[in-house]
Amino acid sequence: MKFNRNFLGIASAVFLFGLFAFIPLEEKKIVVIDAAHGGNDLGADYGGGLQEKLIVERIAKLVQIQNKDNNLEIVLLRDGDQSIELAERVSIINKLKPALVISLHANASKNITKNGAEAYIAADGKFYNQSKESAETLLQKVAAENLSKGSVSGANFFILKKSNCPAVTLEVGYLSNEKDRKYITSEKGQIEIAKKILESLE
Ligand SMILES: [Zn+2]
Repeated sequence: MKFNRNFLGIASAVFLFGLFAFIPLEEKKIVVIDAAHGGNDLGADYGGGLQEKLIVERIAKLVQIQNKDNNLEIVLLRDGDQSIELAERVSIINKLKPALVISLHANASKNITKNGAEAYIAADGKFYNQSKESAETLLQKVAAENLSKGSVSGANFFILKKSNCPAVTLEVGYLSNEKDRKYITSEKGQIEIAKKILESLE
């Protein structure tokens, strides 16, 4: 009888482990990270291989890699250097029905002193309040010691307008500014930005 009781104990422990190890996908919070540009569309290009498309792709991957929250599913719209039409991006987003979309960009300006992280949201629509709140939290987290904090502005970007969910465009800093460039192209900076993005989702 002792054997049987032990067996039951192990069996129920295995059962319980199985129950908690596989939380169904629909109960997870899905956040889509849209690494902007890709393929022939380089985005901002500083030269010497410092391209916006590669910076945002790396940060997007680091968000997914560093996610340790079992209740959070990070979905990447692209995990390689391929070009995806904006309409296709939106169609994927709207099928996933995520809690939030973060579209990642890096900025550039002729004015090389311009710097810092900035965010954009659709100027109106039914997700305005949630998008605004997410954008404020994102900026608060990402703009820390190494990036100055810019503002949240309304914009008519296709992804922001057409996504059926809260959506934020996050400009992670200026490739044209020396201090920002060093930070957003460094491994340390990219890891940190990705961590801060995850913290903003807690
Ligand atoms: Zn861009």
